[in-house]
Amino acid sequence: MSIDSITDSLLELGPKIVALVGAGISKASGMPTFRGEDGLWNQYHAQDLATPYAFNNNPNLVWEWYRARMRILLEAQPNPAHEALTKLEEAGLLIGVITQNVDGLHEIAKTKKIVEVHGRIRYARCQVCDYIQRWDNKEFAEQKDIIPKCPKCKNNLLRPDVVWFGEPLDQIKWQEAVQWINQANIVLIIGTSGVVHPVASLPWLAKKNDAVLLEFNIEETPLTAISDHSFFGPCETILPEFSDLLIKKYIGGYKNNG
Ligand SMILES: [Zn+2]
Repeated sequence: MSIDSITDSLLELGPKIVALVGAGISKASGMPTFRGEDGLWNQYHAQDLATPYAFNNNPNLVWEWYRARMRILLEAQPNPAHEALTKLEEAGLLIGVITQNVDGLHEIAKTKKIVEVHGRIRYARCQVCDYIQRWDNKEFAEQKDIIPKCPKCKNNLLRPDVVWFGEPLDQIKWQEAVQWINQANIVLIIGTSGVVHPVASLPWLAKKNDAVLLEFNIEETPLTAISDHSFFGPCETILPEFSDLLIKKYIGGYKNNG
């Protein structure tokens, strides 16, 4: 099927789109993969540092690692794939973005409805009270040997607001993601092979609901078999091509038909 006939058939549905996003979308954002960039950290694996155990054991080491990651992240910008999702939202076609990424690039691209199921690295939160603050700035990222403390409840440690290995997802965020999938008649699978649980269950839920599944990945994935159509290529190229055409046709006449 051509992109032309696919977009026509989607518009006949009255698109209610949810995007399910993974790391592939951020590759073109000037963000090198972390390992290999910074020799100092080569001896560590994320599985050794992104855990509650590591933080309790050596919070300074864990914060040093997150600062090193943040210094790289501060150079990254959203790319045309992030912007394509914002445009779909502005056109009224998108219910929301469910992302496994913690890099915050959807927020910077000004998408409004986002569920970050694995948390957000640009924020730090108190381990005890509800205090939360952004820390994605040079001053914070370039500090050395400082473990940030909560200004509200004093002396309790701040930690990155991400879901660590061995921690459950935030149930409120997760329920919202499930609710969005249940409302969607089209689900875009973008830059993810969909194998990390429990997010991996969402395409199957969409399938059970008879939603149309469209995949945007660089190559075949385990989700290709259940997708109604797969667009293979860099998502910063293929996603804008798809969404621009969909939006153009929607604005150009389909809007009042559905
Ligand atoms: Zn606190």
